Amino acid sequence: MDKQKWEEGVRKVVPYTPGEQPQAADVIKLNTNENPYPPAPGVRAVLDGFDESRMRLYPTPDARVLTEAIAERYRVKAEQVFVGVGSDDVISMAFLTFFNSGKPIFFPDITYSFYDVWAEVYRIPYETKPLRSDLTIDPEDYKAENGGIIFPNPNAPTGILESVEMIEEIVKANLGSVVMIDEAYIDFGGESCLRLVEKYDNLLVIQTFSKSRSMAGMRIGFAIGSEKLIKYMNDVKFSINSYTMNTVTQLCGAEAVKDEEYFRESVSRIISTRERSKHRLKELGFSFTDSKSNFIFARPEKMSAKEIFTELRKRNIYVRYWDKPVICDYLRITVGTDEEMDKLFAALEEIQNGQTC
Ligand code: PMP
Repeated sequence: MDKQKWEEGVRKVVPYTPGEQPQAADVIKLNTNENPYPPAPGVRAVLDGFDESRMRLYPTPDARVLTEAIAERYRVKAEQVFVGVGSDDVISMAFLTFFNSGKPIFFPDITYSFYDVWAEVYRIPYETKPLRSDLTIDPEDYKAENGGIIFPNPNAPTGILESVEMIEEIVKANLGSVVMIDEAYIDFGGESCLRLVEKYDNLLVIQTFSKSRSMAGMRIGFAIGSEKLIKYMNDVKFSINSYTMNTVTQLCGAEAVKDEEYFRESVSRIISTRERSKHRLKELGFSFTDSKSNFIFARPEKMSAKEIFTELRKRNIYVRYWDKPVICDYLRITVGTDEEMDKLFAALEEIQNGQTC
């Protein structure tokens, strides 16, 4: 059928493809980097005590209770915190707010596959910078004139952590543009570059409650930066939709961020399962990067990654696979509970031995 006239004016985009969310109960879900443990107990208490008559009222537009709890935890002013509906919302707002110079923004060629989607939807020109052969980021690539920079630390899906010194080198070389560091996975063994925020007013650090705080389903992300950066982001946000985060989420998020002990315990459990899983994967003939996140980017040696992915899926074990150059040789495996990982290893052994299910 011929294109309708109105279609010429449509904003056409190729959307981001999120990982599958299978609904069956017996699935082992290691494909979207969720946390296998429940959120902090204070979250349950908020839900139990919530008076539904509060739903009559709009939520506070600046999510004050949550913004203040985050500010206290990270020792910054509330005016330095921006919260959004997941860090996807935060990053999207940041792209819209800061990447307007018309110059290309830079990010790695292997990275979070939402960055090019946001660039496309907002019509932001971009250049991708190849990773080195060991999959690390070369800071020299980020020293040419640009309209902004973003990359995750640790990077995704490689899991490789870069140093705060390397990030400072990039921020220092780019005082004329906004540099965003997406720290979705920083709590699993990395050092945050948040301490640089006081020194550089062009640095925006983005984190999420989806991974280390077990709240992917609540959708909470935040950015910390100079008061000036945050004010600009709020101006854009309040020009689109003031009430993005609902009241229950704000209260649950505030309780979660206050429980430091639970947070540390949950993160350290995942780190220890991750390190144990590395040993086991090595025995099974996989090679992998030294992930400092809650997933392992592993390359099978005995069979193709695609074949293993398909076989695991038949056994109701979901991991992430991309049929794309370079990364098609790898599987990204989220670190689950010890029990889930043991089931994964048993299945991998079976698959590699050629047993059918
Ligand atoms: N950044 C990176 C690098 C991610 O992997 C993810 C998770 N898909 C996000 C941001 C977004 O996470 P969320 O919107 O759940 O905070």
